[in-house]
Amino acid sequence: MEVDILTIFPGMFPGVMSESILGRAQSKGILTVRVHDIRDFALGKHRIVDDYPFGGGPGMVMKPEPIAAAIEHALLCRESDAGGESRVLLTTPAGRPFTQGLAREYAACEHLVILCGHYEGIDERVGTLVTDEVSVGDYVLTGGEIPAMVIVDATARLLPGALGDEASAAEDSFWEGLLDYPHYTRPRQWRSLEVPDVLISGDHERIRRWRREQSLERTRRRRPDLLEHAELTEEDLKTLRNLAP
Ligand code: SAM
Repeated sequence: MEVDILTIFPGMFPGVMSESILGRAQSKGILTVRVHDIRDFALGKHRIVDDYPFGGGPGMVMKPEPIAAAIEHALLCRESDAGGESRVLLTTPAGRPFTQGLAREYAACEHLVILCGHYEGIDERVGTLVTDEVSVGDYVLTGGEIPAMVIVDATARLLPGALGDEASAAEDSFWEGLLDYPHYTRPRQWRSLEVPDVLISGDHERIRRWRREQSLERTRRRRPDLLEHAELTEEDLKTLRNLAP
């Protein structure tokens, strides 16, 4: 997968992009990340990327011309000629909520261009060049850089070969619409707290059932909204019916 990120703060990316799974995915050639400075596409000596809002009001608005030029350049950077359109993502609190489902959708794409806004946001007319408007949550961040990192991280770890253990993404929260079960490691006893016996039983079927029950219980308690769309089996429905109210 290729990702082109358009930002006025390119210096925010190297650390996040070069460490851990994102760094490894790039070394393995599974992921290519290019970061572009939108200012390089601005005209004039001062390379201005923002201006006052028409109609007045506080703050500044990002100008359309440098952003359009940056998007058009990023589209030309694509190396892969495998099928599928390039997706141009605008990060905005007004966008479609970013979920595990959307990360899976993006992981199947060959090329993403991610646009990081600042100030009051980006001139609305740039929307004509965008395929997706994406929000990472119901709060307002200073800029689109952290949302872009969130989108790349959640997406890239789903690429085949990115994780050490292929099965681990499928065990994570949200994969089947449920929260993850609790995890334990050594020591068996820590500050008078014991690891649940079932995990030491060696009985794989009991462990599987216990974990599934914990997932269901946690999801019902913390995020009951998720249960409405979760992929539930007959056994799950029975477990839910038998859980204490
Ligand atoms: N005036 C905008 C509003 O109220 O929706 C907020 C602009 S915010 C200060 C600047 C930029 O940060 C946005 O253009 C967007 O790129 C990014 N941003 C902030 N919060 C975000 C969120 N929850 N999801 C995605 N992008 C966000």
